[in-house]
Amino acid sequence: MPARRSRKKPEKQIKIAKERIRILFKNAEEEFRKNPELSHRWVQMARKIATRYNIRIPRELRRRFCKKCFRFLVPGENSRVRTNPKQQAVIVRCLGCGNIMRFPYRREKKKKI
Ligand SMILES: [Zn+2]
Repeated sequence: MPARRSRKKPEKQIKIAKERIRILFKNAEEEFRKNPELSHRWVQMARKIATRYNIRIPRELRRRFCKKCFRFLVPGENSRVRTNPKQQAVIVRCLGCGNIMRFPYRREKKKKI
């Protein structure tokens, strides 16, 4: 392995990696009914890509998998999604392991100034 000069990967590679993550989640969605085990595997692949490129899973996809058991989550199938106006959050419960995740409504792009 060549020595790393900088931690950041080229912009182009990051863009491709993000695209791949989206595709993996899309596949997971499509595959879930036929083969849930496979869709869980897509999620793990997406996570690996995110780790390797040091990028975050897109916000809208973060509630689509369990942070504890890393299963792909489908609302009404293996997860329960509730909104909690009091907490200003969406509550996602994984029915596979019982993990509960909170996603605050508004955490809009707060760019560092
Ligand atoms: Zn879980």
